[in-house]
Amino acid sequence: MKKLISLAIRNIPRKHLQLVGHFIAKMLSVFYLGRGVQCPVCNHHYRKFLPYGRVARSNALCPNCLALERHRLLWVYMKQKTSLFQQEQRLLHIAPEYCFIDRMEAIDTLEYVTADIESPLAKVKMDILDMPFKQSSFDCVLCNHVIEHVEDDLKALDEILRVLKPGGWAIIQVPFFEPVPEHTFEDPAITAPAERFKAYGQKDHLRLYGKDYKQRLESCGFNVKEDYFVNSLPMEQVRQYALSREPVYFCTRPG
Ligand SMILES: [Zn+2]
Repeated sequence: MKKLISLAIRNIPRKHLQLVGHFIAKMLSVFYLGRGVQCPVCNHHYRKFLPYGRVARSNALCPNCLALERHRLLWVYMKQKTSLFQQEQRLLHIAPEYCFIDRMEAIDTLEYVTADIESPLAKVKMDILDMPFKQSSFDCVLCNHVIEHVEDDLKALDEILRVLKPGGWAIIQVPFFEPVPEHTFEDPAITAPAERFKAYGQKDHLRLYGKDYKQRLESCGFNVKEDYFVNSLPMEQVRQYALSREPVYFCTRPG
């Protein structure tokens, strides 16, 4: 199973996977019936989660809603630490994840805008470097695992800051690969997919983020909380939900 899933992720284009992934996962779910884990996003129970990843990790993907470890972490974080589910707000979700879309759309108090350059799941087609929104038009922005694919990530961060209202917040996550370097590494001369894979860990990534990621966000004008939120949760819950241990980068526009 792990090998099959790794092969599919490596060889099927992302936009196609986004369209058919949930059908395949639902078919596989019959082999995962049980109550060993629970997905906090969709509340379904399974024996364990499906394996997932280019080098497949076990116990990763929810067969029902396709939430991964990091999505489940963010969902619990947003429920506990933000007002997303209670107050009237306008949210921009860049490169929206399948597991969140229906659930965000169901929140009555939320005006929910999805946007992406190519994803068939997004309603607005846009370039993150030149967003078709006025300044200060959103209360919050979600942008997870996007800017590592963008040539000028600092410009993308400027754009997120621009469309946020003063006092608004954004969660901006990127992947980290162990061992995490001290400084973010990028080299514009590295353009071939094989070279990018070697340098950055994935053939469509344009840099390798380092321990200075928080400073990189701050350099664009955000106030940043690097929140190791998972450490505040009961260990049994972390196990039951199979949560990522990554920090959440909670970025606020000052003012
Ligand atoms: Zn789920």
